[in-house]
Amino acid sequence: MNRRQFVCAAATAYVGISRVLAAAKYDLIIKGGRVVDPSHKLNAIRDVAVADGRIVAIEEAISANATETANASETMDARGKLVVPGLIDIHTHATRTKDGPALCLADGVTGLIDAGSQGADRIEEAIAVAKSAPQQCRVLINIGRAGIIPEGDTMDINRADVAAARDAIGRNREMIAGVKARLSRDVAGPNDFEVLKRAQQVASAFYLPVMIHMGQTVSPLPKLLALLKAGDIVTHMFAPPPNSIIDDNGHILPEVLAARRRGVLFDLGNGRTGHLRWDIAERVLQAGFLPDTLSTDWTPEGRSAQVIDFPNVMSKFLLLGMSLDQVIACATLHASRAFPVFRNRGMLKVGAPADVAVLELREGMFEFVDNYGNQRTGRERLFPSATVLAGKRVVDRTTPTAPPAL
Ligand SMILES: [Zn+2]
Repeated sequence: MNRRQFVCAAATAYVGISRVLAAAKYDLIIKGGRVVDPSHKLNAIRDVAVADGRIVAIEEAISANATETANASETMDARGKLVVPGLIDIHTHATRTKDGPALCLADGVTGLIDAGSQGADRIEEAIAVAKSAPQQCRVLINIGRAGIIPEGDTMDINRADVAAARDAIGRNREMIAGVKARLSRDVAGPNDFEVLKRAQQVASAFYLPVMIHMGQTVSPLPKLLALLKAGDIVTHMFAPPPNSIIDDNGHILPEVLAARRRGVLFDLGNGRTGHLRWDIAERVLQAGFLPDTLSTDWTPEGRSAQVIDFPNVMSKFLLLGMSLDQVIACATLHASRAFPVFRNRGMLKVGAPADVAVLELREGMFEFVDNYGNQRTGRERLFPSATVLAGKRVVDRTTPTAPPAL
């Protein structure tokens, strides 16, 4: 056998062994659910098999390891449920509390971004929580060095400290995924344009995106949008006037359309104050301007009012007329593209990390509320049912004998 033949034989043997190993054991089979994965336009009843933290098969029927009783696969009964990629929430304040990320995980969220809870002065506190999170969690640094403060993050323009933010990113390059600039009248006052300029000075030094919190700004929105580059994110896209993305005649501003064309992303950011009003969201969707991403703007307080959980926030957009596939795409695939840390996530392809959310789409009468106390009744609501993270069942409400919820 010459060297080339030897290499070929060895490679064949290796492939043979790995096939045997792959066939020998699945760690978990999620059985009988409706798999909705917009990354490959799948919406059908399928079994999903997981091994070594990855998706290894998505087929009509996958049987457990009948001959390997010692290594029998676990199964999860997902009949009547939706099996979707683990949800990715790109606008939360989950690091405000130590158990924030775990609470989100129980809602099906396997990837999250804390969007500017802290600035340079206390960014390490947010990063400590992000590092201890069970799922992928990164933070955006608030350009206001004191973070979110009641008197307004950058009402004093000196708090928009470029050098301090750059130093903080330099110290924590792997955990800081971008820069947050909150630009509303009560946060930045007349400084909004200058604050955003400084946020871009910080972000561009590290090739990072900026997320702006729009709505009720002093400066006209087009003036602010002109500072945004491809990959930047506009959150609170359904904020009512002054300075919303739609004019009084129901037309999306041309500068908003131009921003989307050059790669700026538009995000929901549900939150609790001043961000979402039904009539604005309805008109924006009627104009054909769908969100790129849905997100909660999650806080511990939001769990009991308005936000509740990510599946509840997604359900509001079923009520507003988006399809289930569109809503899932906004909370998975599209969100995964917003930050490199989520690359290969937000999908259920064979070979992808096995982050899975099992949701239940219940029919009935469900009350939803916008940020202005307006109630609407929907006919369906998504509920979190189980979460699989890196192939492990971490939360499971599908069966009474399953491990307890976190
Ligand atoms: Zn926020």
